[in-house]
Amino acid sequence: MKKKKKIFKREKQKEKKLHQKNLSDDFIKLCKKKLIAKLNELQSFSVKNEINTMLEVGDEVDLAGHDIGKEIFHELSDAQKNLLELINSALEKIENSTYGICEKCGKTIPKKRLEVLPWVRYCIKCQTNVDKLSK
Ligand SMILES: [Zn+2]
Repeated sequence: MKKKKKIFKREKQKEKKLHQKNLSDDFIKLCKKKLIAKLNELQSFSVKNEINTMLEVGDEVDLAGHDIGKEIFHELSDAQKNLLELINSALEKIENSTYGICEKCGKTIPKKRLEVLPWVRYCIKCQTNVDKLSK
């Protein structure tokens, strides 16, 4: 039991090393900024929905037309909720120094991919496999 714990700890350190070698602090800071910006965007969208639901459509709504107004009443879509979850877990990973590591194979996710999608969980190879399975 004790031995097992030790091994786990060692693996964690390895992950940290991997992460530090491949991603600079500046890059991670940039990703964090992007993640938080997106998080705020999603949250303000969700808050706006609540306010609009309470107040009825006022002049706050710059999207004219009743049909669009109705759309705004909807909650976050499943895709948006999903994204919100991904962002939260990515931010957690930054805290744990495991950011940018594929959850499936443990390899570092290429910087270019993280630049475009800072909340991704998998490398391209694993993502392709996941997509295949979910289709
Ligand atoms: Zn992978």
